[in-house]
Amino acid sequence: MDFKLSAANKMIQKTAKEFCEREIPKIDAAMAEAHDYPSDLMQTFAKARMLGMTIPKEYGGLGSSNLNCVLMCEEFGKTGSTSFLPLIMNISVAETIHHYGNEEQKKKFLPPLCDGTAWATTAFTEPATGSDPTMLQTTAEPDGDFFVLNGAKRFISMANKPGYGIFYCKDLSCTDPRKNCTAFIVDKTSPGMTFSGHYEFMGLDNADTCDVFLKDVRVPKENILGVQGKGFNILLRWIAGERIQQAASMVGGGQACLDESMKYAKERQVGGQPMAYMQGFYWMFAEMKMKIEACRMLVYKTVALQDEGERFEVDSAGLKVFVTPMMQDVARMALQTHGSYGYSKEYKVEKLFRMAMHAGVVASSTEINKTIVGMALLMS
Ligand SMILES: Cc1cc2nc3c(=O)[nH]c(=O)nc-3n(C[C@H](O)[C@H](O)[C@H](O)COP(=O)(O)OP(=O)(O)OC[C@H]3O[C@@H](n4cnc5c(N)ncnc54)[C@H](O)[C@@H]3O)c2cc1C
Repeated sequence: MDFKLSAANKMIQKTAKEFCEREIPKIDAAMAEAHDYPSDLMQTFAKARMLGMTIPKEYGGLGSSNLNCVLMCEEFGKTGSTSFLPLIMNISVAETIHHYGNEEQKKKFLPPLCDGTAWATTAFTEPATGSDPTMLQTTAEPDGDFFVLNGAKRFISMANKPGYGIFYCKDLSCTDPRKNCTAFIVDKTSPGMTFSGHYEFMGLDNADTCDVFLKDVRVPKENILGVQGKGFNILLRWIAGERIQQAASMVGGGQACLDESMKYAKERQVGGQPMAYMQGFYWMFAEMKMKIEACRMLVYKTVALQDEGERFEVDSAGLKVFVTPMMQDVARMALQTHGSYGYSKEYKVEKLFRMAMHAGVVASSTEINKTIVGMALLMS
């Protein structure tokens, strides 16, 4: 058991930290003005050699590890910026296509996801459900060499950006109603696709999430990803990886909460001395530190399973159940430390607090994750 990061891991951390310090303020300023991601965002990530992290070099990737990806997410999490969500989406969708795709699909779809010319999307959620594949109402009907897609997808991130999305649909050519969810790789510029405006959320400022309407969208049969009717398994594995990256970014957010709180407490005077000298704050910071460190270790342990090729779906569900309330609590303590200033948008902890609140409901909710862990326990 080795708890140390290698020199190469530390280099990734350092590079990501420097990138965040140099680029994120500029990107966030552009996002605040446009209420959207900058159109050249993916090129910025590509130039910084951050896309296609885990994809082999022959398909345009970096051939790096999931651990390195997670270390990068931790650094991005410290910024409180939402600008890295498209980066994670490109990395995780590329990894999914690499895992399930055939050789033609890998050659066609991976290079644009790695060089920043395509924005990736995952489209599962619909107005009727974000958790239950048997409730999907977007249909895929065979027609010669194509499938014709009709329906609506809800809360889809980066849906209206050019590139590819993995769309999960009710496949009308599958007879078993419990095994009829098929995953399709869809060109998001296809005729018949339209989009709503952006949703405004409590946190994740200026993130681009909208509804997608599909009207007779024709997708070639060769774009079916993995086995027909088994799309939900693909979604579950994608979400499992996403949960680890999300947990890592939350740990980064928690660390930023602690750093900001200690800085504030050292400067803010109470009773003629810095607030930091009051014992109540020692205890608060100690508690924050212990929570962050426990979560960080669990993130590294879970990503090690992924890198070793072990099953990690259940562990990653448990990871998110553990990390989410821990980091939300750390964010609450940071806000409390700052007093009313913490409630003001002038201070970074306000943004970090709002950001921390999304994790229990997005990309598999706490209840669904507990169900995954509980069922695995009882079936073992
Ligand atoms: C910022 C943001 C970005 C998003 N991006 C995407 C995206 O890119 N792609 C995408 O497909 N979706 C996306 N979503 C949607 C999100 O993943 C879903 O909203 C989420 O999975 C929950 O689905 P739901 O809201 O339909 O809740 P429901 O599935 O309707 O669940 C409602 C409540 O019931 C609970 N529940 C549901 N089933 C069970 C059960 N069996 N046992 C116990 N409790 C249960 C849930 O935990 C939840 O608390 C995004 C959402 C947000 C807010």
